[in-house]
Amino acid sequence: MAKRTVRDVDWRGKRALVRVDFNVPFDAAGAISDDSRIREVLPTIAHIREGGASVVLGTHLGRPGGKRADDLELAPIAERLAELLGTPVEYVHDAPGGLARERAETLREGDVLLLENLRFWPGEEANDPAFAQGLAALADVYVNDAFGTAHRAHASTEGVAHLLPAVAGLLMEREVAFLGRVLEDPVRPLAALLGGAKVGDKLRVLERLIAHADAVYVGGGMAATFLAAQGLPTGTSLVESGLIEACAAMIETAGAALHLPTDVVVAERIEAGAPTRTVAAGAVPDGWMVLDVGPETAAAFARELAGMGTVVWNGPMGVFEVPPFDAGTRAVAEALAESSAVTVVGGGSTAEAVARLGLADKMTHVSTGGGASLEFLEGKVLPGIAALDDA
Ligand code: ADP
Ligand code: MG
Repeated sequence: MAKRTVRDVDWRGKRALVRVDFNVPFDAAGAISDDSRIREVLPTIAHIREGGASVVLGTHLGRPGGKRADDLELAPIAERLAELLGTPVEYVHDAPGGLARERAETLREGDVLLLENLRFWPGEEANDPAFAQGLAALADVYVNDAFGTAHRAHASTEGVAHLLPAVAGLLMEREVAFLGRVLEDPVRPLAALLGGAKVGDKLRVLERLIAHADAVYVGGGMAATFLAAQGLPTGTSLVESGLIEACAAMIETAGAALHLPTDVVVAERIEAGAPTRTVAAGAVPDGWMVLDVGPETAAAFARELAGMGTVVWNGPMGVFEVPPFDAGTRAVAEALAESSAVTVVGGGSTAEAVARLGLADKMTHVSTGGGASLEFLEGKVLPGIAALDDA
């Protein structure tokens, strides 16, 4: 990547301010239900500490909207991080400019301090210069390892990067390397596998990848709007009427490179155990909706994708949360897991589906950034990356 990274810094005697994405999910009892966002950043923290620096970590959690919220404090995260690091983590329950500054100044080599949830202060999301200044005063070097928030220009992701030497963390570096390679120098043939809820969420990614990839496969809820664009019946499927023309244009532009479902699984309701039918893509009955790609489509997509040089996948093939509408997603995920293609998975729900299937380790790269990975694949410049120092 054309940005400086933690590997380009002499850390001896320095203090690092590291923006991480510890926005982890919690279960009903208030315990962290998946700590992978914490684990993903451990190599960056280790690298900085081993280099001889102390570490001040900043993250957001949830959407407190610029106010303190008791249930979004970070004590459970500080505790889990300390367990994972095997070292104490000091957690400062105060604004970056207040007590945190005092505590940061006492840090010695290898010490780790976690700031309070940055979104408790309105200056964070407003990218307020004074708030960014308060953050910058905590450290000598800024590190951004929060790829999942890199599409937001907030004080801790963008503003502060202009006030200190600013470098990418190892997770950020890996995200940009894998996603960037898809856009810049993919092992061809390059296929895009796109699904998920709506065309509207993915229109720019679709257009971009249709122009760039050798083949594009479309499933998921968005397939219904493509069926409508071909003048086919869609029953009660969610059809985005304002995007039918855009879909027709993509069908026209892509020609034989665009692969749409040839069969689909339909039901009257999104409900486990609801009666289902498998029908040809052109024969969705009145009163029924498309909830998954059909077995013929899943098998064809799986077979063709397995032979690609690179597959970039965003969006489940069906309502994978509700069996049996998970079958299409499972079939393509298994094919990608076994394939020797470079497989890059982006999108929050897609990553969740792959994790549920236990196949995350079998992919070349599963992005930690849902919205950020989509914006990256659209070809947008992400402000949190742009603000880092050029290599
Ligand atoms: P990602 O987060 O990976 O970008 P999306 O958010 O676009 O993916 O889409 C994920 C959602 O799409 C899932 O909740 C899934 O249930 C839904 N979905 C997939 N196929 C269909 C369908 N045929 N009808 C309705 N919803 C669907
Ligand atoms: Mg999503």
